Amino acid sequence: MAVKPGVSCHNLQLRRLLTLRHSTMSLPPAKSSALLTLARGLLQIVYPNLCWICRQPIPPDQHAFCLPCHAALFTDPRPSCPRCAATVGPFAQVENGCPACRDQGFAFDRAVRLGPYEGPLRDVILRTKDALGEGLAEIIAAEWSASLSDKLRELGIQCVVPVPLHWWRRWQRGYNQSDALARALANTLNVPCHAYGLRRLRATKMQTSLSPTSRRENMRGAFVARRTVPLSGKSVLLVDDVMTTGSTAHEAARALRKAGAERVILAVLGRAEA
Ligand SMILES: [Zn+2]
Ligand SMILES: [Zn+2]
Repeated sequence: MAVKPGVSCHNLQLRRLLTLRHSTMSLPPAKSSALLTLARGLLQIVYPNLCWICRQPIPPDQHAFCLPCHAALFTDPRPSCPRCAATVGPFAQVENGCPACRDQGFAFDRAVRLGPYEGPLRDVILRTKDALGEGLAEIIAAEWSASLSDKLRELGIQCVVPVPLHWWRRWQRGYNQSDALARALANTLNVPCHAYGLRRLRATKMQTSLSPTSRRENMRGAFVARRTVPLSGKSVLLVDDVMTTGSTAHEAARALRKAGAERVILAVLGRAEA
C-alpha cells in the first residue's frame, strides 16, 4: 500500500501522542492496558504502520522501518577512509588517507559516515530534504547518534555545529535537516549544540552542476562562525547530511578553525563518490 510521507508523519505524531498518554494515564493497569491495545488496534486500521522505505506493514511497536530496511540503513556494508569517509577496499592502507583524499587539504581532521550515499540511505536522505521530512530526519538522527556515540566520545567531542543552509533555502524547505542530525548527536553526547554557530554568507550555486575544482571555488568564504559561540580550543563535531568532494565541509571547518576550534570532526549521513 502506498502512503505519502505526510501521512506517515501524521501517523508518527499520533503514535507519539499515544505513547505520552500511556505514560500519564491514571486508570488501573488492567483497564489502561486494554484501552491502549484497543486504541492501537484502531490506529493500525486508520493509519497502518508502514515502513518508510519499502512501504510494507510493520508491527505497531516497531519504529519507522521493517527489519531488513533497518539493517540496510544502519549497517555500513564497506570500510571507509577515516580522513574523508570514502569507501575503501578491505586491505587499503588509510593511515594518511585514501587515494581519494591523500592530495587534498581538508580543514577537518577526520570524517565519519553512516554509509555510502546509495540505495535505501540515499532514498531516505532525499526524502528528508522536503518540508515533511523533519520527522524522518529525527528518527534517523536518533538511531545514528546512538550507534556513533562511543566513537565520538573517544574523539572527545565538546560541541556540535551543523552546516547551515542559506536562509532562502532554509525558508523554502522549512527546516535544515543537518540541524535535526546535530541536535540528536549533541543530545546523545550531552554536549551543547550550536545550531547557529555558523552563518552562510551567501547563496552558492548547486554543487552538483560543478567540477571538483569549481566546487572549491564556489564555496570559498561561504561561511563564518558567530562570535558569540565559544569555539576556542574546542573539539567540534561538524554535521552535514551528504559529503561529495568535501568542499562544503572544508569551508565550514575552515570557518570553525578561524574562530579558534582546535579539532573538527565531520559526521555525514551519506558519503557520495565525487
Ligand atoms: Zn522496509
Ligand atoms: Zn580518504
